[in-house]
Amino acid sequence: MEWFKKARVGIDSANKREVPDGLWTKCPDCGEITYVKELEKSYWVCRICSYHFRLKSDNYIKMILDDGHLEEHDADLVSGDPLKFKDSKRYPMRIRQAQEKTGLKEAVRAGIGKIDGRLVSFAVMDFHFIGGSMGSVVGEKIARAIERSLEGEIPLVIISTSGGARMQEGILSLFQMAKTSALLSELQKTNIPYISVLANPTTAGVMASYASLGDIIIAEPKALLGFAGQRVIQQTIKQELPEGFQTSEFFLEHGFVDLISPRKDLRKNLSLLLGYLCND
Ligand SMILES: [Zn+2]
Repeated sequence: MEWFKKARVGIDSANKREVPDGLWTKCPDCGEITYVKELEKSYWVCRICSYHFRLKSDNYIKMILDDGHLEEHDADLVSGDPLKFKDSKRYPMRIRQAQEKTGLKEAVRAGIGKIDGRLVSFAVMDFHFIGGSMGSVVGEKIARAIERSLEGEIPLVIISTSGGARMQEGILSLFQMAKTSALLSELQKTNIPYISVLANPTTAGVMASYASLGDIIIAEPKALLGFAGQRVIQQTIKQELPEGFQTSEFFLEHGFVDLISPRKDLRKNLSLLLGYLCND
């Protein structure tokens, strides 16, 4: 029956901004038409309004790590289908389509890289893969990235962007919040630093676990951050919410985010902060 059909307007479907493949593209914020090659040179930031286009994991790897190189670990981990989940399509089909679209196996890539010569355990999420959702594989790869930090005594840097836990894996997705948070508390007992970078958007289960547990939290400008969406919060607490309360700028003002870094400065800022935190 028509009226039971859910209008699918979520972070995933309503906000498909991504690095374009054509020659020219239009800024989703100010409408400026820009030559893609120019955008590439400016770290995918609009020269008129500073809108930060959503990046692929590959862009971050090239932008942040020395020689743009990540020695990738666990690259072949793929999700099973323990719940035999099916909505408009079966879960394995959804995974396969995401793999074909992105060329990735899952919504996070992790491994070892260098920032200004310093070894780091590095993980970067990719929103283009099922909205960067966290299922058992994403959780496991993040957990192993934390373990590599612990074992190698090297700093941890995670770039998050996610709509939250992956509903197709139900409770197994939620387990990942506890697993990654528990491992991070082990890391916190050491002097090994963890810097969490929040890209647009970082929400729900990822925000409520490893993304918010950095010793330092850096956000990209004007990113959407938070746990639940505005409408859900408003209906729950029955109060008006302040303007822009889920933006990086609001989070900085209220002390949750330590630094908003324009993309062009991200590598430099990471290098600087790691230097301070490692005290060398
Ligand atoms: Zn613009």
